[in-house]
Amino acid sequence: MYHGFCEQRRDDDPENLFVEVDRFEEQLRWLLGQGWAALDLDGYLAALADPSRRPRRSFLVTIDDGFTSVLHLAVPVLERVGVPALLYVPSDLAGSTASWLPRPADEPLLDPEELRHVHALPVVELGVHGADHRDLRGVGTAVLDHQVRRAHDVLADVVGEPLRSFAYPFGAHDAAARDAVAGAGYDVAFSVFDDAGPHAVSRVDVNATDTLASFRLKVQLPGYRTWWAALDRAPLVRRGVRAALTAVNSGRGIR
Ligand SMILES: [Zn+2]
Repeated sequence: MYHGFCEQRRDDDPENLFVEVDRFEEQLRWLLGQGWAALDLDGYLAALADPSRRPRRSFLVTIDDGFTSVLHLAVPVLERVGVPALLYVPSDLAGSTASWLPRPADEPLLDPEELRHVHALPVVELGVHGADHRDLRGVGTAVLDHQVRRAHDVLADVVGEPLRSFAYPFGAHDAAARDAVAGAGYDVAFSVFDDAGPHAVSRVDVNATDTLASFRLKVQLPGYRTWWAALDRAPLVRRGVRAALTAVNSGRGIR
């Protein structure tokens, strides 16, 4: 799970959302070099339906939010290395800015024309990331309908075909949100840390502080997503682990 991209580490990115594009390419090339198979959504859904068809080591790249840097920086990398990606965008914010994000302020999001363009590329498939990027936990059915079903219809109009997958804003979901997503007909939906069936599949978060060392640790450590989710209930421990990961990185002199 990625978010935005940059050429050089940004100093206005406290959430570490913007990954240096050279690092992104290095990470993808490392996976491919180690024999990992890059899946697109068709391959992923086939593996989800029938685990026996899943390559032993495979990955699916997802990118949340639809920042303009995806088009300008990440797409050329995806094309160069031949790795497909899913791009999750909030339907009502196309062409606007990431209003949910305090910093960086006013970060631009792809407009409808750009979304149409990237979805038409062989390496990108668009998915739905709510309507206005609000947390879907505890909201009523009318809000869920707008954020899940209508968001789909708005984006399907933009790209001219139905979209098949969903990613929860902030990775946050509850039973009602999962039911709404399943009921709207999405084939799969992604959370961040907590798994709950095909409509809440957790992901490995890759952020701006990751070096190749920590990236390798994250993707290779068995159960990484499970114990990281468990640490959600122990924020101090989690902070310690994060600090340790950062120390591993800086200790290697590659930040
Ligand atoms: Zn998001």
